[in-house]
Amino acid sequence: MRRKLAAGNWKMNGTAADLAVVEDICKAHKGAGVDILICPPATLLSRLTDAAGDVIAAGGQDCHAKDSGAHTGDIAAGMLADAGATYVILGHSERREDHEETDQDVREKAKAALAAGLKVVICVGESLEEREAANTLDIISGQLAGSIPDAVTGETLVVAYEPIWAIGTGKIPTLDQIGEVHDFIRARLEERFGAGVGRSTRILYGGSVKPGNAAEIFAVSNVDGALVGGASLKAADFSPIISALEDS
Ligand code: PEP
Repeated sequence: MRRKLAAGNWKMNGTAADLAVVEDICKAHKGAGVDILICPPATLLSRLTDAAGDVIAAGGQDCHAKDSGAHTGDIAAGMLADAGATYVILGHSERREDHEETDQDVREKAKAALAAGLKVVICVGESLEEREAANTLDIISGQLAGSIPDAVTGETLVVAYEPIWAIGTGKIPTLDQIGEVHDFIRARLEERFGAGVGRSTRILYGGSVKPGNAAEIFAVSNVDGALVGGASLKAADFSPIISALEDS
């Protein structure tokens, strides 16, 4: 049985005042039947951990592949763990684009995160050009093979399918397209890691998930939750998405 996961990615948004969102979500979803994760900017991690109690897990949005050293502005996985994170998002398309991160970079970061005891949310997804050229599954296949290290378990690995063209645009793939990719990811994971890891790894959909489309997305096969950007910034939007996941 895979425990569902509602994950919020706050990106470069949020200051102390926004911890009210965390408090509201905690109140509304205490004892939720699903896992809830918020990945705030690193500056808020430890305060979010304090505010979130045992209702919401905290995660980083990236980490460095090295444990320490002369890497100004970067954060090591152990530092995220020290600040209270239990997860880290890796290979988000904004990092792949803004920082030219390759699959190999993501894999090295994931190894460091796992060594620091973090769970990894590894993002994969195609551009609009790749989808229109019917290359989606090839792209996803390459990203999965290149970005996920060998030493993962169903407990420590989460895969997020995030079509780049759906992030922050209000557009989403059809439900059939989401199902096709999620079934494909499940098959690839089973092929590489065996049925145990393959079937227990959670696969999230990400890209313009909103209260109005969450329930239909959560009904798609092999969708075990969502990675939510914009709609995770307000309790009034994130809370009904969590509720839809609980009801799915
Ligand atoms: C994201 O950035 O991971 C994301 C899914 O963003 P949004 O929900 O805003 O499309």
